[in-house]
Amino acid sequence: MRDETNLHIETLTIHGGQSPEPTTGAVMPPIFQTSTYAQRAPGEHKGYEYSRTDNPTRHKLEANLASLDGARYGLAFASGMAAITTIMMLLREGDHVVAMDDLYGGTVRLFEQVLRQFGLDFTYVDMTNPDNLDAALQPNTRIVWVETPTNPLLKIVDLAAVTAKAHAAGALVVCDNTFLSPYFQRPLEFGVDMVLYSTTKYLNGHSDVVGGAIVTNHEDLFQRLKFLQNAVGAVPGPMDCWLTLRGIKTLHVRMDRHQANAMRIAEWLEAHPKVRRVYYPGLPSHPQHELAVRQQRGFGGMVTALLDTDLEGTRRFLSAVRLFTLAESLGGVESLIEHPAIMTHASLPPERRAALGIGDSLVRLSIGIEHVDDLIADLEQALATI
Ligand SMILES: *Cc1c(COP(=O)(O)O)cnc(C)c1O
Repeated sequence: MRDETNLHIETLTIHGGQSPEPTTGAVMPPIFQTSTYAQRAPGEHKGYEYSRTDNPTRHKLEANLASLDGARYGLAFASGMAAITTIMMLLREGDHVVAMDDLYGGTVRLFEQVLRQFGLDFTYVDMTNPDNLDAALQPNTRIVWVETPTNPLLKIVDLAAVTAKAHAAGALVVCDNTFLSPYFQRPLEFGVDMVLYSTTKYLNGHSDVVGGAIVTNHEDLFQRLKFLQNAVGAVPGPMDCWLTLRGIKTLHVRMDRHQANAMRIAEWLEAHPKVRRVYYPGLPSHPQHELAVRQQRGFGGMVTALLDTDLEGTRRFLSAVRLFTLAESLGGVESLIEHPAIMTHASLPPERRAALGIGDSLVRLSIGIEHVDDLIADLEQALATI
């Protein structure tokens, strides 16, 4: 296998962990759509026994994902939530987790409505000030769970500072890096132990697969997670692995355009009289703009805006967009828009939403890679309905 340590991520998206298929020379790995593998004699096989345990198409995706983060190990899962669940299976009854307060809604639901029943305990803190961790860390804290930038308010967490505190307390750090992808942020470089992805979003990028991944440099964690991947069984099918591998090949090209469009739209929205506030880490007005510049290679394609209207006006605006699709999810080539309070963050209790600042006139935009002038024209005509 070629040495990949000096290759740029723009090359690794295409070549990382890949080599032509040995029998035919096929440049793309075949979709090994098989559940089981012939053995010559009992226990005598070519390294593949059953596809929950090992599948060659999945292995190609896992090697590629690991390369993007400069990681030694990668594991693919049936969804982002499946990957998160598998990480949480590292814990046992009585263990404690400290998590960022502004977290993906599905993660909060898993923690609060599923994992609490198994005797795990969770504390949520605003880690934009890492000192808030001091009071939250306990002797039984095993994991510090970080998301940066957060969803939907795009708050930034200082990964090096949080990791130093967590490690001093004997806890592992997981970073959900779904919003930036490895192209814009590589958390392992700041000491993070495991990086989590919903590959459904930017990595696959085409809104046609649900998938998840974990990458790590720790041999012991990898071995345990690999055991759990097989034991728990939340694995992706070969076709989905192949589609994701195909999507990743253009990750860098897509991310550059997502970001260029997002920057233009964030600036345009900030100057618009019907917009009260814009949240985008690339804007100098973002309270943590400097941390974003230091920690990230780019600012991503997500923009959140507080409109100068009430719930009714916001509903009118969201129904008036034509090019933007009103839909949950993010990170695809097409632009999406959504209402966090009613849609993605509806499972949060209203007082929690209010405390976080997720109000009735807040909208979240996943900026696609269309021509930015067409996107702005669409927002302009929709804002005129307010
Ligand atoms: C979508 C998402 C998840 C969950 O991933 P699925 O693939 O939908 O299961 C987790 N974290 C973040 C930040 C997400 O956006």
